[in-house]
Amino acid sequence: MAHAWSGMRGIAPVPTYVVMQPTTLCNLDCAYCYLPFRAADKRMPVEVARAVAASVEGWARESRFSVVWHGGEPLAAGREHLAALLAPFGPGVEHHVQTNATLIDDAWCEFFRAHDMRVSVSVDGPEARNGDRVTRGGRPAYDRIVRGIEALRRHDIPFSALCVVSDPRPGAATELYDYFLGLGCDVLGINVEEQEGVNTRANSHAAADVRAFWAELVTAWRADPRIHLREIEWTLRYVAAVLDDTADALLPRQLDPIPTVAYDGSVVLLSPELAGFSNPRYGDFTSGNVLNRPLADILAGAAVTPWIGEFLRGVESCRATCPYFGFCGGAHAANRYFEHGRFDTTETDHCRNSKIRLLEGVLDHARDHEPSAV
Ligand code: SF4
Repeated sequence: MAHAWSGMRGIAPVPTYVVMQPTTLCNLDCAYCYLPFRAADKRMPVEVARAVAASVEGWARESRFSVVWHGGEPLAAGREHLAALLAPFGPGVEHHVQTNATLIDDAWCEFFRAHDMRVSVSVDGPEARNGDRVTRGGRPAYDRIVRGIEALRRHDIPFSALCVVSDPRPGAATELYDYFLGLGCDVLGINVEEQEGVNTRANSHAAADVRAFWAELVTAWRADPRIHLREIEWTLRYVAAVLDDTADALLPRQLDPIPTVAYDGSVVLLSPELAGFSNPRYGDFTSGNVLNRPLADILAGAAVTPWIGEFLRGVESCRATCPYFGFCGGAHAANRYFEHGRFDTTETDHCRNSKIRLLEGVLDHARDHEPSAV
């Protein structure tokens, strides 16, 4: 009953993490990348980091708080500059970096350890599945990615992995899961490729293929669940909560605002993928700039940003119409915009691939196995 869901109403005044863009530059040129300025090296000035650090200090004292350094390729900012950006943050703030791994060497490993930085690498599975990942000169990037991961392993630095799947279908899931077991990551996130930003490739797939992909992934994971598998574990938690009649309590009560602070201090809320884009109707999607307004004030005024009001209406439409709302919470603003050109719509290819088919695939797995399996 879609109307019963009470989570995800409005936007929380305090985020659980902030995304920071130390540089727009990326040294790779992946075919599916959504970033508009990845060929330009626009670096974040230290004043931007100082302004953000001043705002998050109080939040980090109250509860766990993270800064996620996400580019471009954050390591392309260089160790010295990244250290200068990290310096204003107090010891209570956790730092994470999302990297393509190609620049990781011994010196970067020492840097991660010195700054207690959690590392997540982007790699799409075995070499043949990394064809979209190329250097600026168009050469395959896989060997460089693997060299970076080998450096992490040499230094015993734990890492997560993020895998983009462009063509989810039966057969792929087992191969991928086996690969990541061998890679040595602790946590794996699977992102079905999304049509967003400057990536206009269609991401519509046959429902049966996507569903079978997710079902197969559960089977592979259950055979050897050494890795935390983000999407599958979340889905199983939801299914267990439905069985316990506690599912309505699972979604956060309010949307996490996920402020993304671009290199120049401008702030885009809810969907990092909107940063750097503009539209005659919505403007540049920003809600303010930390150089002239504290982040807490920007968050307090979030709902007056024109596109955000429209998105919140879209979330209410999802609540009213979609039986998957309690699992999904309305998904991401950027997918609505880049697929439909507006925010008050409901279904997207993204939510079909990564929410609806995911839940259906996990349930298919449960049906195909003993009832006590889930
Ligand atoms: S985004 Fe899609 S799956 Fe999620 S609640 Fe809305 S329509 Fe349902």
